[in-house]
Amino acid sequence: MSRKLEGKIAVVTGGTSGIGLATAKRFAMEGAQVFITGRRKTELDKAVAAIGPKATGIQADSGNLNDLNRLYESVKGQAGHIDVLFVNAGGGSMLPLGSITEEQYDDTFNRNVKGVLFTVQKALPLLVDGASVILTSSNVSIKGTPAFSVYGASKAAVRNLARSWTLDLKSRGIRVNVVSPGPIKTPGLVELAGPDAEQQQGLLDYMATTVPLGRVGDPEEVASVAAFLASSESSYIAGTEIFVDGGQAQV
Ligand code: NAP
Repeated sequence: MSRKLEGKIAVVTGGTSGIGLATAKRFAMEGAQVFITGRRKTELDKAVAAIGPKATGIQADSGNLNDLNRLYESVKGQAGHIDVLFVNAGGGSMLPLGSITEEQYDDTFNRNVKGVLFTVQKALPLLVDGASVILTSSNVSIKGTPAFSVYGASKAAVRNLARSWTLDLKSRGIRVNVVSPGPIKTPGLVELAGPDAEQQQGLLDYMATTVPLGRVGDPEEVASVAAFLASSESSYIAGTEIFVDGGQAQV
């Protein structure tokens, strides 16, 4: 069977953990050469080793424009262009209205909005016409979630960026789409419960009860949707959002 991304050049931001790591592995399995980013060097090195010879790690904070310049200089030097850009780096923390701090706001919006915006804008000279750009949002962007308003608002912004960019990029045939996970078992999710393993399991168990399919998702289940959006199998899909949430926000 032919591989979906044979010979393609892919960049996966936040590719050292959870959804990004699973997707980088999947892209490599599908034949792509994959550049991954993350802020922590040790995690980056571990991820590159886990993905294998098709992976290159570039330490970069998506909220830092100099880091993004360095990232793309490196990709340009080593690969010359980008076919697939998975803008996945992000995350958030929980604070209810009344306790929200400027620091939490800045951290969340830097990662999830500023980082997404400049990761795509700075990639434009390298993106081939017909490239696929995939942004990671979240199903909380279409719901209210206690103590998660800053994160939810930042992810709602991501959804709208994809709509407008689909129009901005139409002359180049670049498809911009959004993948919106529900609860997916990753370090980023369980750490919302704090460092205690029992509390982390408690969070996963509770989350499972809120999902029609009765369980939290695996990162590979998001990776397979990202691989679909990255490939020509989704050639007539643009500006859309695919929820991978076991139905949590759909019913
Ligand atoms: P994760 O396990 O914490 O992984 C996050 C990845 O992003 C790591 O590689 C992290 O590495 C990187 N990262 C974070 N901030 C970064 C920055 N400023 N610059 C560069 N890299 C950065 O989280 P995950 O659950 O896989 O989340 C991936 C994406 O899915 C996020 O956008 C998240 O908001 C979204 N999401 C997750 C869920 C879920 O339930 N897991 C649900 C909906 C949406 P470093 O920390 O080393 O930088």
